[in-house]
Amino acid sequence: MSLHIDSPHAPLEPLHLPQIQHKKIDLFLKREDQSHPFISGNKWRKLKYHLLAARQQNKNLLVTFGGAYSNHLLATAAAGAKYQFATHGFVRGEEVSNHMLKLCLLFGMKLQFVSRTAYLQKEDLFQNYFGSNQHAFYIPEGGSGNLGEQGVSEILDEADMQHFDAIIASVGTGGTLKGLLQGVQKHQLNTRVHGIVVLKGAETMNQEYVAYAAESYCLHHQFHGGGYAKTNEELYTFQHKFASQTGIILDPVYEAKMMFGLISLIEQDYFAPGTRICALHNGGLLGVLSR
Ligand SMILES: *Cc1c(COP(=O)(O)O)cnc(C)c1O
Repeated sequence: MSLHIDSPHAPLEPLHLPQIQHKKIDLFLKREDQSHPFISGNKWRKLKYHLLAARQQNKNLLVTFGGAYSNHLLATAAAGAKYQFATHGFVRGEEVSNHMLKLCLLFGMKLQFVSRTAYLQKEDLFQNYFGSNQHAFYIPEGGSGNLGEQGVSEILDEADMQHFDAIIASVGTGGTLKGLLQGVQKHQLNTRVHGIVVLKGAETMNQEYVAYAAESYCLHHQFHGGGYAKTNEELYTFQHKFASQTGIILDPVYEAKMMFGLISLIEQDYFAPGTRICALHNGGLLGVLSR
């Protein structure tokens, strides 16, 4: 049975924020968070070609990896259920229960908690437990890699995404940013892709982008807010204000930092008046329930 996966419904909406109105920036929000309640945002985009490859190879069990609050684990569990795959998640660390893992279980995912040391060797885990299972398909943590980037690049296939001077996205592994860059390259756009890095001390990741034209991207390292999954009073206040101003929720781990960084850059006149900017909202909304 071949697999057909529809393009996600992720509307492009103008975003009006009173605090930056005088800057004359044309700001839009790409609502990837609306593509699905549980397979949302970039996780949906990144899974697409993994699922197609699995089906093509006649595999019916998706095996993947994540932390106890992983948006990717939940996306895989929900996508697996939707497209008739069994799912197995290796979870980093001691056994715990939370709303994310409960949802994974509800979608039928089998969870296996492994020590932080064992978790580092993901290929070994797969080999040890599924090496002899012909039906098991390996999906890298976060849905990363070429297949994941290919899925993300399709955002730029959408005609209304091809007119921006700048596209902004949060950066964890950077798979999303690379996918966007590939989409920009493919369509030969003059768009510059900006990544707001949510990890602290991650400057060495710049080396992964040397293959891309310097004017096509920029990584911003000053908005991590203390480090991965850390937040602070300023970010929390911002996230709160943004939700009450717009009706749009930003998760604390990624999108609140992305939007805080973007608004800060606009306030600092980093972008010239008239710049057309699109910010990507990559979902992760259940993250607000974690603290
Ligand atoms: C996973 C995730 C990211 C980070 O994407 P990368 O491709 O790892 O850089 C950003 N935002 C949300 C909501 C996510 O779930």
